[in-house]
Amino acid sequence: MPEGHTIHRAARLQFELLGGQAIAADSPQGRFMEGAERIDGRRLTAIEAYGKHLFYAFEGPHWLHVHLGLFGKFRIGSGRAPAPRGACRLRLQGPGGWIHLSGPTACEIIGAAERRRFLARIGPDPLRPGDRPARAITRIMRSGTAFGVLLMDQSVISGIGNVYRAELAFRAGIAPVTPGRLLTRAAVLAVWRDARMLLRDGERTGRIVTTHPADRPHPAGTVRAGERLYVYHRTGKPCLRCGTPIETEIMAARKLYWCPHCQPEPMPSSAKIAGMRERRLKKPRVAAGQDTAS
Ligand SMILES: [Zn+2]
Repeated sequence: MPEGHTIHRAARLQFELLGGQAIAADSPQGRFMEGAERIDGRRLTAIEAYGKHLFYAFEGPHWLHVHLGLFGKFRIGSGRAPAPRGACRLRLQGPGGWIHLSGPTACEIIGAAERRRFLARIGPDPLRPGDRPARAITRIMRSGTAFGVLLMDQSVISGIGNVYRAELAFRAGIAPVTPGRLLTRAAVLAVWRDARMLLRDGERTGRIVTTHPADRPHPAGTVRAGERLYVYHRTGKPCLRCGTPIETEIMAARKLYWCPHCQPEPMPSSAKIAGMRERRLKKPRVAAGQDTAS
């Protein structure tokens, strides 16, 4: 599934192509004919990204809301569009270029009130300059849920998917099974800042690179394919920092990757950790990383 950097990048590139132009809209596949009719011929005034969601503002009261989900894809280009490939839900054509959208989880026309209600339900987005992390930090620090699950919960923090989840936890040295309430405010704030930095980099370049040059076997020159990430999709391979084999398990319905040495679990007994995954903690245990300052 595309992560926040892909969505913000799509918003920027698509607006460069079609911003301010009158757009012809239709649905070659036929499943979005009524929606397309409502924006057809209107001027596109903004494209906004919030986490993994896109909102297209057209002149008048209408917003187009798009969520790509697991299978959604954009194709875009300048000039006249080629024939759409496969089941094209929405086709936008302006004087400057075209966008074809296929397979989205959501493609709908909504009003301003509906958009406001929607935005109230999602967590702050590290890629939105005005978004502050306070709400996300409070949610995480009050939760007995595993940090690895909270990072992917879009109502806690917006835009982080499976790759950034694994890489952020590694870079912070936090075991993904650690309950949020065992983390310090400083640790969670550092993860937010790291997310902002990594996602901005991903938005700019269109790809995810999380490794520090000093940790790469080939630190000079272009980053090689197998050296871009610390743990994601590296099951069984040696950790780039310590050589310990990377482990994997299913968490929040997606595969999770981590280094058991660089991301030590917060309690001594792995049996206790296993039990902790099954139940909510009643009381936080005193453990490494617990906030004793407050
Ligand atoms: Zn390691």
